[in-house]
Amino acid sequence: MFKTLIFQKDKNNSSVNSVKSMDGLCDLTSIDSSCGFAFVDPIGKILSANPTFLKLLNSPLESNEQSLSDFAYQINPLTVSNLQKILAAPQAGAVELVSEDKKIFYLHLTKLNQAYRLVIVENLPSSKLLACEQNNSIKNHSTILQLKDRSMLDEILAKWKPEDPRTSSLAMLMIGLDRFKPINETLGHDAGDQLLQFVAQRILRVSRLNDIVAHFEGDKFIVLQINQDQPVSITTMAERLMELLKRPFLINGQQANIGASIGLAVLHHGTQSVGDLIKHAELALYEAKNNARGNYRFFEQSFEKKALEQHELEVNLRRALLLQELKLFYQPQINMLDRRIVGFEALIRWERPGKGLISPQSFIPLAENIGEIHEIGKWVLQTACREAMAWPEHIKVAVNVSPIQFESKHLVQSVKMALLSSGLKSERLELEITEGLLIKNIETTLQQLWDLQAMGVSIAMDDFGTGFSSLNYLNSFPFSKIKIDQSFVRSMQTDKSRALIKAIISLGAALEMKILAEGVETEEQFTYLAQNGCMEAQGYMISKPVPVEEIQKLIL
Ligand code: C2E
Ligand code: MG
Ligand code: MG
Repeated sequence: MFKTLIFQKDKNNSSVNSVKSMDGLCDLTSIDSSCGFAFVDPIGKILSANPTFLKLLNSPLESNEQSLSDFAYQINPLTVSNLQKILAAPQAGAVELVSEDKKIFYLHLTKLNQAYRLVIVENLPSSKLLACEQNNSIKNHSTILQLKDRSMLDEILAKWKPEDPRTSSLAMLMIGLDRFKPINETLGHDAGDQLLQFVAQRILRVSRLNDIVAHFEGDKFIVLQINQDQPVSITTMAERLMELLKRPFLINGQQANIGASIGLAVLHHGTQSVGDLIKHAELALYEAKNNARGNYRFFEQSFEKKALEQHELEVNLRRALLLQELKLFYQPQINMLDRRIVGFEALIRWERPGKGLISPQSFIPLAENIGEIHEIGKWVLQTACREAMAWPEHIKVAVNVSPIQFESKHLVQSVKMALLSSGLKSERLELEITEGLLIKNIETTLQQLWDLQAMGVSIAMDDFGTGFSSLNYLNSFPFSKIKIDQSFVRSMQTDKSRALIKAIISLGAALEMKILAEGVETEEQFTYLAQNGCMEAQGYMISKPVPVEEIQKLIL
């Protein structure tokens, strides 16, 4: 009647993490494990169970005389309806039961076929539970997750005096999920909450009885280790967590891969006071995220200086517009046949007092992160349109637009305003976007691109060949120009780059799009591109980007 099940144990702990079914019969009563196992039918009637299952759930009866709902009812009547929902759901699910004496049971349900479900029950140490959950009123994420929250953690840490023996080997892990935001945005907030619960379960699985596990904020969690051999213990835990959180999660039948980065701070190893643990673990987490996500970093003193500099940069960038420290430089784009200028690309610079000209690569990502890009982007559009009015009618101006600007949904309006206030004809404005833009919110982005095109503004795809699914995007939107990324031009001596350049040029011709080569530095590159049908070029060979005052010299 039953199928044989193979339980694969996680090599690091005793919980079951994957189940395969095969033909044959399985007698669960002989399975000796710290986890409880049971087969149930679709309404939850227990068909077979191992001794741990009956012991954990304190069953005085033969297993086949009870249903899962009866167990749940005995433990906590409020959870029965939740359990029934999961039984009826088409995919795997989990429910947590908290008994009056504060024992926690995790029930994982896996659907084997139409007739049978496998239930795995794990018992968690109650020391990890919050006192405030007793009233069952869900107040915030931390209560949903059944973890301590930030203020409780602060309270615990504040109580410990330096002479408290427990502080002698304190260590903290701050875990930040790498790709939580896109999942939350695409699958919805309920799915996001469920994902956080699953993450909390995995963290609890690797934590020890004495560890304090807390939900810090958003997609960040904290584990505080007490009285363990440091930094060995915290390193081991970081490695296990990285591995565990890299594995996919199943949310509403969909697979979610998030991964995590971890910041580590250990008392007496660079962190001198208990009060600094959270701050240092957070700085280490930022560092881990900034380098290569999916990694862990120990706190280092230099992180504090870096964070201060970053903060200072942020404050100064926020007032750079007001202080008129931003400038546009312009780089000519020429027709390769007659070498005449057909347009200029506007490239932003930040003139920081005492620090010289700062390149956009050093501050545009920051402006995007702190939301300042919207104001800066608006200013670039207005300034470029106004300054282009002084040039001959046949010369266009190209403006770079950040993907973040499309998120605000005011971009079309900003372009309209820039054209109106300057008097520039829309046909003289070109917007440059990168392939990455089209990955997120493809529908709303495309709508904005169509609206811009309807106004007469042309759209160029910048840095072509460096992103993903390029061909797909070319198909979804009629770009008027493709800009071959300068990396291909730079490595033109290789056969591969030459082949790619030729392919891009013929693709552009077939799709009736102009092709411009970026980063042209030598006559040799220019000649090869021209001979192979490239129409326009931009690069140091023609001119470096120049301040607006020098444009007249170039167009004369
Ligand atoms: P991009 O749009 O691909 O601009 C071309 C970059 O290549 C410019 O760097 C330009 O100075 C540089 N370049 C041009 N010709 C050559 C060459 O022959 N050799 C070499 N090695 N480099 C060359 P820049 O000005 O530092 O800008 C970097 C990036 O910053 C731009 O790449 C663009 O993505 C972004 N950016 C610039 N201005 C703005 C802006 O106003 N808004 C936004 N959102 N991004 C901007
Ligand atoms: Mg560009
Ligand atoms: Mg480019």
